[in-house]
Amino acid sequence: MQQVQIACDACGARLQPNAAYCERCGTRTRRARRLVRVAIRVEALFFILVVGLVIAFTWIYTAQK
Ligand SMILES: [Zn+2]
Repeated sequence: MQQVQIACDACGARLQPNAAYCERCGTRTRRARRLVRVAIRVEALFFILVVGLVIAFTWIYTAQK
């Protein structure tokens, strides 16, 4: 399933194993782009969790009065 990227998509330069960026042109590798997408997803999930907690606590606080 996981394909190893050998060359840069933009300039075709050879990449170091598990490199995040191309050493020649600085383009992100596919692996790095995927990691960024995962990080954004985790961040969004965490944000939703915090917002949900704030709403829940606000609701509990107003319901207690
Ligand atoms: Zn490149």
